[in-house]
Amino acid sequence: MILRMSANSSLLERSLSAVWHPCTQMKRHETLPLVPIARGEGVWLYDLDGKRYLDTVSSWWVNLFGHCNPRTNAAVADQLGKLEHVMLAGFTHEPVVQLSERLRALAPSGLGHCFYGSDGASATEIALKMSAHYWRNTGRPQKTEFISLQNSYHGETLGALSVTDVALFRDAYGALIRQNATVPCPDWRNAEAGVSPEDYALRCATALEAHLQEHHDNIAAFIVEPLIQGAAGMAMYHPVYLSKARELCDRFDVHLIADEIAVGMGRTGTLFACEQAPRPHTKHRQERGISPDFLLLSKGITGGYLPLSVVMTTEDIYRAFYADETARGFLHSHSYTGNPLACRAALATLDIFAEDDVLNVNRTKAAFFNRIAQPLRDHPKVKNFRNTGMVWAFEVDTPHADFAQRCFSLGLQHELLLRPMGNTVYFMPPYVIREDEMQFLVTHTLKVIDRLI
Ligand SMILES: *Cc1c(COP(=O)(O)O)cnc(C)c1O
Repeated sequence: MILRMSANSSLLERSLSAVWHPCTQMKRHETLPLVPIARGEGVWLYDLDGKRYLDTVSSWWVNLFGHCNPRTNAAVADQLGKLEHVMLAGFTHEPVVQLSERLRALAPSGLGHCFYGSDGASATEIALKMSAHYWRNTGRPQKTEFISLQNSYHGETLGALSVTDVALFRDAYGALIRQNATVPCPDWRNAEAGVSPEDYALRCATALEAHLQEHHDNIAAFIVEPLIQGAAGMAMYHPVYLSKARELCDRFDVHLIADEIAVGMGRTGTLFACEQAPRPHTKHRQERGISPDFLLLSKGITGGYLPLSVVMTTEDIYRAFYADETARGFLHSHSYTGNPLACRAALATLDIFAEDDVLNVNRTKAAFFNRIAQPLRDHPKVKNFRNTGMVWAFEVDTPHADFAQRCFSLGLQHELLLRPMGNTVYFMPPYVIREDEMQFLVTHTLKVIDRLI
């Protein structure tokens, strides 16, 4: 025990001395210990002392089928014995071709071309550059501006920050970031009493229309997080907004970029969130669902195993780059573009979706969770309890300005990895979570909240 304790604390010290941790004020770790994780299995993470934590946030929203999933492990191990990596310029390989074909078959119609990046932010960069470059190649070089929703989050590189509206991430870098316009977000928490989420979404779409009407000549694209604005605090909105956005972008010749980095891969209940948009009356005619001009995927696409992102786009956009001149091509690359190991993890993820009928099973799990979460929903200090697919969130009425920090620390004591955003607590668990684990999550969260209010 003493030996293990010292191994534990020495790892913490070494980490604080050598590793600059992300999204962290490092000085906080003078009082708040890091959690040294030794291994993971299913929804559980285990620290060096063998203490366990239920990963309620899927390790920053990436894990889908549990830690150390045997099927994903086997796929990656198999690929390791064949080819770990080859550059994707001038070369190709089976995993990247298969993944592109399968994504094309699964995605909303018309998205036949896959361009790969290494992480979410790079997917945003790719889509913004590709959109502006498309307009340049098609004779409208003045279309270089972008619009996003208020409280939007699309990543933290400089280009992605220019369409991100989270002050904490932006303010220090204001001088480095291009200013782009934002339009009202359809988050139903902002609706006045008596206004339905649908009516509120429609009203926000009117504001988008007014903005496009005035500025469309200079706008390349509108980028949006479909159905849930994650980093805004799991803000949820009515899918009719997406139908309206599609219609307006068509009318004003503006690309629609669907950033499904967090919400894609089944998180909202359908494989892609865009599928839930109700019948639009546009050229993209389908029973339900819209096709964006760009669909961005990352996070869950490898099941949470390896960094990979993909930007899917249309034949029209692809064709605008297809020419004899080099400079008309899309000259963008990352060293690890289309990494075979990551592609195999993504293929294993798609296999599991098919073999385990994941979307249907998740529907049953979500219904179960909503039933057993009733005490949370009814809790006098809990507000705006909400659910979309496999995401739950609520605000806690608390006197503590440092609620998020306290909740995190107290969560660990109750075997939960909770990572609230402000006073918003959310659950975004791996899909493999079992009924007893869901019950554990509710019971222990109630204990944490009751100790904090
Ligand atoms: C996480 C996220 C990103 C950025 O992805 P990274 O891999 O962290 O760069 C972009 N958009 C959305 C909606 C996200 O949730």
